[in-house]
Amino acid sequence: KVRVRFAPSPTGGLHLGGVRTALFNYLFAKQQGGTFVLRIEDTDQTRFVAGAEAYIQDCLRWCGLEPDESPLHGGEYGPYRQSERQRHYRKYAEQLIADGYAYYAFDTPEQLEAQRALQPNFKYSHENRLQLRNSLSLPTSETERLLADGHPYVVRIKIPVGETVSFDDMIRGVVSFDSALVDDKVLLKADGMPTYHLAVVVDDYLMAITHAFRGEEWLSSAPVHILLWEYLGWRDAMPQWAHLPLILKPDGNGKLSKRDGDRLGFPVYAMNWHDPKTGDFTKGFREMGFLPEAFVNMLALLGWNDGTDQELFSLSELVDKFSIDRVSKAGAKFDFEKAKWFNHEWIKQTDDRVLLPELQAVLAAHGIHGTDDKHLSAVLALVKERLTFLPDFWEQASYFFKRPTHYDSAAILTKWNAEKTAFFADMIVKLENFDPWHSAELESFYKLAIQASGMKVGELMLPLRIMLVGGKFGPHVFDIAALLGREETVARMKHGLE
Ligand code: GLU
Repeated sequence: KVRVRFAPSPTGGLHLGGVRTALFNYLFAKQQGGTFVLRIEDTDQTRFVAGAEAYIQDCLRWCGLEPDESPLHGGEYGPYRQSERQRHYRKYAEQLIADGYAYYAFDTPEQLEAQRALQPNFKYSHENRLQLRNSLSLPTSETERLLADGHPYVVRIKIPVGETVSFDDMIRGVVSFDSALVDDKVLLKADGMPTYHLAVVVDDYLMAITHAFRGEEWLSSAPVHILLWEYLGWRDAMPQWAHLPLILKPDGNGKLSKRDGDRLGFPVYAMNWHDPKTGDFTKGFREMGFLPEAFVNMLALLGWNDGTDQELFSLSELVDKFSIDRVSKAGAKFDFEKAKWFNHEWIKQTDDRVLLPELQAVLAAHGIHGTDDKHLSAVLALVKERLTFLPDFWEQASYFFKRPTHYDSAAILTKWNAEKTAFFADMIVKLENFDPWHSAELESFYKLAIQASGMKVGELMLPLRIMLVGGKFGPHVFDIAALLGREETVARMKHGLE
């Protein structure tokens, strides 16, 4: 039975690359009728950030990627926070030492610092482990004494020399590493907590994970993990790996970072994030006005396509169509303009029932409360095509809910004359009794009146628009008048003549 996991560390806001990893895990699990596990990798106490775990869960919920098993949902493989699973890691670290695959190292941080000062590329490895302070270099009695005295230590993996470590990646095919280039990574830290390397292997095993999707940045750690699977005697149970392509800066020059977003003015995090440690605030896609459907759709296409030109996919369609064979090895450039296009398209195809509450919130933020949903729906129909983000609704449609506060009169004043004033004064009187108050009827009536006046259509359309809307924008002006209603239309025209 397929079991996959999304295993973020709660160290801050969730980068869109992290959400894409969660998404690909989710799609694969759902497609295979499998289980999607959320595991919180919180063993690095120095990087732990309060609130980050709740934020991750909120992000997944917002995106519709609800886990089947997680710290919140529970499950038979729990606990799902690594900080609550400490006993497992120590046990397996000890097993590795007993089997000769790992060792105690007593070097203090100062001693390692001094080594690094001497040798900038210093790596703890087969090249120098015998010159350092550990249970391989020290006499057994000395090791025992240090342990008995409670000396601080870490446990390191003993990486072999002269071995080729390989595995078959679902995206990259066979990947091989020369073991001599890998260092003796720490498995258990001085505080008794495991490092990521030990914890990820132990938990993937104990949680019966069958497929592991993660970012390409973890590829270089894979040999350590493969060796651990082997040394713990579990190689047959090892999950199939898929290292997902990097998400690149818009110009393709390196990995997309939070700073690129700040610099270029787009979000990189899924949702707003306030960092309690630094006080920093980072804007998210959600708060910028992205619909979760659009965000997820956009992410799915960063590194995947279904082989056709189709670009718009709902989550359930993605579940049907996703295939690991069509995930590319090459990094995917992030394009914010394209992201906006997805949102625009999704707004167009999203049902009003979903959008109306969001728009009520947009209006409420501008002090407009209790708008009738039917009216709101009618306004939305007029401006839907023009929205990139839902908050744009205000800019595009505020004049339906309150009179314009600013009029672009410069656009008409230079050509204003007494004839026009007379035309509008007369029109106001006629409209007060005009029936039926519908767009098409209003349009032909207005245009006939222009003809009768001998002026040009263009000269009298813009002033009407400015009177109703305030500026040179918006949908068909008679649609606007129809929706504003007689009273308000006439009132705005009167105001325009003042
Ligand atoms: N805890 C790692 C992270 O924060 C997970 C890597 C993995 O999935 O193995 O990305």
